Amino acid sequence: MSESLKYLDKLPSKTKFVFITGGVVSSLGKGLASASLSSILQARGFKVRLRKLDPYLNVDPGTMSPTQHGEVFVTDDGAETGLDLGHYERFCGDPAHKNDSITTGKIYLRVLEKERHGDYLGATIQVIPHITDAIKEFIVSDLHDEDFVLCEIGGTVGDIEGQPYLEAIRQFAYDVGRERVMFLHVTLLPYIPTAGELKTKPTQHSVRKLQEYGIQPDLLLCRSQMEIPENEKRKIALFCNLRAENVIAALDVDNIYQVPISYAREGLDAAVCHYFGVNCTQAADLRKWEQIAETVRHPQGEVKIAVVGKYVSLLEAYKSLNEALAHGGIANQYKVRVKWIDAEALEKGNPDEMLNDVNAILVPGGFGERGTEGKMQAIKYAREHKVPFLGICFGMQMAVLETMRNLAGVKNAGTTEFGKDCEPVVGLMTEWDKDGARQIRHKDGDLGGTMRLGAYDCVLEPDSLTAEIYGSSHISERHRHRYEVNLAYEKQLNAAGMRVVGRSPDGALPEIVERPDHPWFIGVQFHPELKSRPFAPAPLFVSFVKAAIDNSRLL
Ligand code: GLN
Repeated sequence: MSESLKYLDKLPSKTKFVFITGGVVSSLGKGLASASLSSILQARGFKVRLRKLDPYLNVDPGTMSPTQHGEVFVTDDGAETGLDLGHYERFCGDPAHKNDSITTGKIYLRVLEKERHGDYLGATIQVIPHITDAIKEFIVSDLHDEDFVLCEIGGTVGDIEGQPYLEAIRQFAYDVGRERVMFLHVTLLPYIPTAGELKTKPTQHSVRKLQEYGIQPDLLLCRSQMEIPENEKRKIALFCNLRAENVIAALDVDNIYQVPISYAREGLDAAVCHYFGVNCTQAADLRKWEQIAETVRHPQGEVKIAVVGKYVSLLEAYKSLNEALAHGGIANQYKVRVKWIDAEALEKGNPDEMLNDVNAILVPGGFGERGTEGKMQAIKYAREHKVPFLGICFGMQMAVLETMRNLAGVKNAGTTEFGKDCEPVVGLMTEWDKDGARQIRHKDGDLGGTMRLGAYDCVLEPDSLTAEIYGSSHISERHRHRYEVNLAYEKQLNAAGMRVVGRSPDGALPEIVERPDHPWFIGVQFHPELKSRPFAPAPLFVSFVKAAIDNSRLL
């Protein structure tokens, strides 16, 4: 067998592959489309896995600015990925893994490491076959008899960066057999009001482009603000060389929980099952989606929560947070309206004016000094006015600094993240345990992939508010941080009314702080938003939103 076909040894016998590409414009919502298709297939009883192949050169998005790339999603096993895996986890409920996300940078890194190691035995290393082989190996790696593996290719067809991926999936279909592979292309049918028509030409061009790469799409999922008339579907089908039943409308809907319902109604899952010749007599059971979409449409009331952060110019930067707040709202039958506040604007403005119309305040994760004064002003406001407060990761660190500065009298309390010139209440973490092994970091080490990442256990004080909220004194939550509150200051914090109520199992790392003198004031070193799902909302968010609803100061 040729070297390039060795990956087929790892191919599970029954798994089918759906490759999802995007055309016409970016931001078509391919990630949401992929997650929605996964969830409807799952609702038909299939075992589904979703993978994301990103064509950029970063090894992972961990070092990228959230305002460029959106949030960095973290898996239980500590991978830093794009936000699409977050959609997948929220829609399907299964945790994603390190092996579900790859970038061009990571592929090249693997190939070049092998080259340096001498594994290629004198060969000239080329995009084809070495990079394409590595992509194919990734596609079949770590599979466990899934019925369907959905692989979403990032970017838009025609991008230079995406070409090796298109070539790899073309080869994959050739190697594995066309009957086990579906090419699903997501496009846009723009509506031109003056013509009163949906336009199909951009879709035709995009399909031509795919065909140039040797890929004939089998199904088109067309974003559209209105139903696509049958004659237009037939026209698209004819020009794009596929069956009219496989031209499917992805209609604009008023909330994301409606997407799987809408796709099923348009026949997406039936078309996928029909294509692969798998049993499709039983329709997907989407009752739980209908219920949740109904709650979102008819909430009992509305609650306003301020999120004071630095990346508010791109809300994708707080994707999981926004979703977790919505989940907390749904659990309470309420709509959460988020007031996004730029922490720097708060520094220049008047916190009393900017925060007096919200029921609760949240300071999310973040990096760097810019905007921190504003965050601390928001925390002080929440503390003094007894407004429910949730501090996440950096937000927790800022809550500790606010208490140290304003109540413990340590005016220069700071974090070494901003330099040495402070009382190091928050400091660089250089050693911790992961799965029984000691992790060691140095201050001048690499920034990429070296934080305390992924799921870690945390032990709670049984009499704490947080233990009551979780209904347990042992929890596991996902982390992504490099700095840590220094327990040497615990006595001073206690004297200033702040209590450490959660720690790592060895007691070395503080994980949660509370203020017993406040109705709801919690800071957590981890990111509870990453595990929140519409059908299993994060307990902290459910309780936080409830506290916001109960905060009657605005009623
Ligand atoms: N910058 C802080 C740290 O590295 C907080 C990180 C975060 O909020 N995710 O510890």
